[in-house]
Amino acid sequence: MATDEGQQEQVLDLGAPGVGEEALDLDNTVSSLVSKTYLVWKIVSSRYISPAKVKAQTSAILACNGTYRVIEKGKNLFLFGFEFEHDRNKILRKAPWSVSGQLLVVKCWPPNLAIEQVDFSTTVFKVQIHGLPPDLSSLWRIEKLGGLFAEYNGLEETIKNMYGWLGFIRMKVQVRIDSPLISGILVKDFVGNTVWVSFKYEKLADFCYRCGRLDHTLQACKESPRPDEGIEKRGQEALALG
Ligand SMILES: [Zn+2]
Repeated sequence: MATDEGQQEQVLDLGAPGVGEEALDLDNTVSSLVSKTYLVWKIVSSRYISPAKVKAQTSAILACNGTYRVIEKGKNLFLFGFEFEHDRNKILRKAPWSVSGQLLVVKCWPPNLAIEQVDFSTTVFKVQIHGLPPDLSSLWRIEKLGGLFAEYNGLEETIKNMYGWLGFIRMKVQVRIDSPLISGILVKDFVGNTVWVSFKYEKLADFCYRCGRLDHTLQACKESPRPDEGIEKRGQEALALG
C-alpha cells in the first residue's frame, strides 16, 4: 500500500519534451482530430442513460449528413465523433440540445485538457430580450444585460441587418446549470424611469420549477417550497442602462 501512495504523489512531467522526443509527437494529429470532429456531451440527469439510447434519441434530432459514434466516458458523459467537421460545427452552433426533456450540455474538447477536466457547469443558451425600448438597445447595453449571466458570448444576429426583425434582440450567453435562471430585470433609462425587461430561453429543457435551476427537476429539489416558486425575478434594484 505504501508503494501505491508513493506512486500517487509522483508527478510525471509531460509538458516539455526532452532531447529527441519532439520527433515522437502524436499530439498534432490527436489535437487536430479532437478540435475538428469531436464534441463532449453531458446529460444532466440523475438516471443512467446508455450510449445506445443516446444514439437512438439523438439520431432523430441532430439530422447529420454523415455518421457519428457515441462513446461512453463516464456516467452520462459521452464523446461524440463525427464523420464530417461541418456536422460537428452545426451541432455546436445549434446548442443547447435536449433529449426527452433532459438537458444535454455540449462542449468542445479543449486539447489541453483530459475529458474528465472539461467544465460542464455552464451551458450555452440563446436568450431573447423582450421589453427593451429601442433607445436602450445599443451594443454596450446588451452586453451589460449579458453580464447578468455566467458569460456573454455576443449577439446571435447582427443588429446592422434588421430586415425581418421580430421586435426583440437575441444574445448568446453561458448559463450556470446550478444557479437559478433569471426571468428578467428592471432597468432604468436616461431619465430614471424603470421598465421590466424579460429573458426568454430558447430550447429550454426541463428544469426545477421550484428553484429555477437546470441541474435537477422538482422531484429532486432540496429547497423548501416557497410562494414565488419558479424562475428568479431580478429587479429589487434597477440596472441602469441610461
Ligand atoms: Zn430545485
